[in-house]
Amino acid sequence: MRIRADIARLLESGTNLSNRAIAHQVGASLTTVARHREALGIAPHFQGRRQAPPLPTADLWRRQTELVDGGHLRWLGTTTADGVARLVDSGRVYSVPVLAFQERTGQVPQGPVRPECGMDDCVEPRHLEDQLGRDHLAAVAAAIGI
Ligand SMILES: [Zn+2]
Repeated sequence: MRIRADIARLLESGTNLSNRAIAHQVGASLTTVARHREALGIAPHFQGRRQAPPLPTADLWRRQTELVDGGHLRWLGTTTADGVARLVDSGRVYSVPVLAFQERTGQVPQGPVRPECGMDDCVEPRHLEDQLGRDHLAAVAAAIGI
């Protein structure tokens, strides 16, 4: 295949651009970019979590919770119209499940953060997972046959 210089330059730039970002930037198809990546021996785009920035609200949200049976944390503060716990601090609105997830993992969640403990409005950090976490748990469950 003929290697396009513009695609090769972006793939080799070390900026970890996704195939989609490169395709959009140079006006090529996703398949074309994927073929270039393979031909040039460039590792797949890294899609893991990013490091979360420090949050000013680290323990602010915990003051609005109560521990309930089973080790769950119930949110006592305000919620969004969808019922998601939210915290307003210094004029900014935070999703409490996201804050709790970031407190436990130090990372920005990928996809929605939801409790995996059976209590719909639980905000206990250890009971929350993002999509990567759910995918990981499903893969582990499949690997050990449960
Ligand atoms: Zn829970």
